[in-house]
Formats: sequence, structure tokens, C-alpha cells
Amino acid sequence: MDFHKARSIEERLQFMDHLAVKFRERANNIDEEGRFPFANMKELKEAGYTSLTVPTEYGGSAISLYELLRLQEKLAEGDGSTALSIGWHMGIIKNLSEKRIWKEDIFRKVCDEVRKGALINSAASEAQTGSPTRGGKPQTTARKEGDFWVISGRKIFTTLSPMLDFFIVSASIEGQNEVGNFLIPRSTEGVNIEETWDSVAMSGTGSHDLVLDNVKVRAENMVEKIVPGKKGANGWLLHIPACYLGIAGAAQNYAVQFAKEYSPNSIQGTISDIPAVRQKIGEMELELMNARHFLYSVAKQWDATNDEERKQMSAELSAVKLAVTNAAIIVVDLAMRVVGARSLSRQNPLQRYYRDVRAGLHNPPMDDMTIELLAKNVIGR
Ligand SMILES: Cc1cc2nc3c(=O)[nH]c(=O)nc-3n(C[C@H](O)[C@H](O)[C@H](O)COP(=O)(O)OP(=O)(O)OC[C@H]3O[C@@H](n4cnc5c(N)ncnc54)[C@H](O)[C@@H]3O)c2cc1C
Repeated sequence: MDFHKARSIEERLQFMDHLAVKFRERANNIDEEGRFPFANMKELKEAGYTSLTVPTEYGGSAISLYELLRLQEKLAEGDGSTALSIGWHMGIIKNLSEKRIWKEDIFRKVCDEVRKGALINSAASEAQTGSPTRGGKPQTTARKEGDFWVISGRKIFTTLSPMLDFFIVSASIEGQNEVGNFLIPRSTEGVNIEETWDSVAMSGTGSHDLVLDNVKVRAENMVEKIVPGKKGANGWLLHIPACYLGIAGAAQNYAVQFAKEYSPNSIQGTISDIPAVRQKIGEMELELMNARHFLYSVAKQWDATNDEERKQMSAELSAVKLAVTNAAIIVVDLAMRVVGARSLSRQNPLQRYYRDVRAGLHNPPMDDMTIELLAKNVIGR
């Protein structure tokens, strides 16, 4: 299986379906033991998935946002933690390919490594700033020493940390009122991971603390200057709702299958014949249909427009994330109501989906910020 050699989206989706079936079988153990899904990541790398968003001139396939989200949704049907983790990596490379914000030389080098299997993610969150989307200034600092930057601090929620090869670390520049993003290879002295991740949701994402103790990188590793909280329109972040949509789809599949098979002796046939159960199944389908249409129409719009028009899409992108993640929570809840008390068994995947979809509320952008943005736009119109 080689994702790069597939001739169509449909063929890539078939590949992903094949992997997702395997990952679903491992998901319960990974969750129960809070383990990182090393085997899943290895298989995604070996199949060429992790370099699909690399630009074609650097040996990738430069897949569209629409295709990325379809694949991510399918992956999340198998294992949410794997999908969210690899989604950051895939999305960051896609974003850098589209916007070319980094110097070409350094981006090309990263792409070369990604083609060989390297993984990347950004470490932006800190205990003192909370969600970086709210504009808090990093307490992590970068000090200039000749041709080098020396970076110290602690990041929390560093998803994929057990296997990351590159960290994009935000740090306040000492002596200036500016913040930069620094590309830090894992092998750099002073880089440490503290295994702090104990979340009941998305427990397999390995979102541990990244501790940086006087980490020295070359001057060019300051890859961009940023303004905390001001990120502009980011299509790639839709990997987040795609992930929660996939989990919700898995919950629907489980509940419908259960309803078609469960036949208590109080009724003839199965519970799928009962109006109250059918009502919930119909409502689930409506939520998912709505969510998919919204997500994929905005993704297609993103793919079809130019950089200037994309800048106007912030409100829609934020609204999609809010609508889809909240729909996913509703769908999992309905699925559990269909299945009943068995859904609470530790052996049952629905209790994992229930915990996992909650994490969507705490991935960016946060719901209150989206609602405020929508209100601001309407009032200012
Ligand atoms: C599964 C998962 C994976 C993640 N992966 C990554 C990753 O790879 N890299 C990374 O950098 N981060 C990652 N994050 C972190 C994420 O981006 C957020 O930083 C984190 O979830 C904290 O968000 P929060 O809203 O709970 O925190 P806080 O910002 O501390 O907010 C806590 C609560 O306080 C209130 N609040 C705080 N500040 C304000 C304010 N200014 N205005 C209004 N209300 C406020 C809100 O009610 C909020 O719910 C991940 C998070 C999760 C759950």
C-alpha cells in the first residue's frame, strides 16, 4: 500500500479504510493503558501517508484540503487519538506549503525529512498562557547569543511528543516585545519530554510536556515572527472537526449495528423497529449530514479560492469547527441512548468515543471566541 501511488481519492480512502479497521482493533488497549499508538504511526509512515501534504516539487503529493479531511475523518473512525495526532503534522505541512511563510531552504529540508518519515508539531500551549489562541504571551524565552538562539521554558499539551522529530516552539524574544516560532529538532541538547499526559479524553495522543533547558539552535531556526492570538484564516485546522466527525461516525455505526441485532424478549424483531430508537437514529443521521455538508463545502471553497479570498474565511472556518465538534458530541450522546447501559461498559467503544469527543471543545478555536467573532461580524456589517 502506497498512498502516493494511488490513482484517486477513492483509492486512498480505501487504503485508509483498511488501516482504520486495524487501528480500531487496537484502540481499546491504547486507551485503557494510556499508551501512545506507535504501531499505528509506523504503519501510516510506511504507507506514505505522512508525506501526502508535502508539495510535489519536494517529492510529496500536495493533496487538497478536501482530500486531507476525508482521509482524516476515515482515520478517526478507526482511532481518534491517532487521527488527531497525525492531523497536526499533516496540517502544519499543508499550511506551510500553501503560505510559504518559512525560508525556502529550511522548509525544503524539513520536507526532505518528512519524506523519510519525520514528524512535526507545534508546541504553543503553556500553563500560564492557557490556550494560545487567546493571545497570552509565552513564558518560554529565546535569547540571542551570537549566531544562535538559546531557548528555555515548558510547553504543555505537546501532542505526538513520543515520536516528534521537530517541534515548532513559540517563545518571547528577550529584550524585545516580540514573539517568534523556533524550529527545534528533537536531537538538540536540552530537549526533554516529561510524560505528564493523563487525560481521560484522547489518551493516546501522547500530549506530554516539552521541557526546554537552554536549547541552542542556529539563527535561521527562528522561522517566523508571530503575534499571539492572531493567526488569520487557517484551513488546515479543519483537521480538528474532521477528527471528531470520524469519531461520531464510528459511534453511529456501532449504535445502528447494535439496534439491528439486539432483540430483547419483550419485543418481536429488534430494537431498530421501535419508533423511539428510530427517532434517535434519524436524528444522528441528520446531525452528521449537516456537519459533513458544512465541513466539506467550506473545505472545497478553501481549495477553490486564492490567498486573498482565503483571508476572508476566518468566520466560516471557526463556525465549521464549532458546529461539527458540537454535532459530534450530540451524535455520540444519541448513540449511547440507543445502546443503553451497555454503552457504559469499559469494553464498549462508545464510552471511549464519549470521552474523546469532549476534547474537541478544548481544541482551537474555542466556542466562545467563535460566537464573539460571528457577533462582531454581524454587528459591524
Ligand atoms: C487533545 C488535545 C490536544 C492538544 N494538542 C496540542 C498541541 O499539539 N499543541 C499545543 O500547543 N496545544 C495543544 N492542545 C492545547 C489546546 O490548544 C489548548 O491550549 C488547551 O486545551 C487549553 O485550552 P483551555 O481553553 O482549556 O485553557 P485556558 O485558556 O486555560 O482556559 C480555561 C478556561 O478559562 C476560561 N478562559 C481562559 N482565558 C480566557 C480568556 N482570555 N477569555 C475568556 N475565557 C478565558 C475559559 O472558560 C476556558 O474554558 C491540545 C489540547 C487537547 C485537549
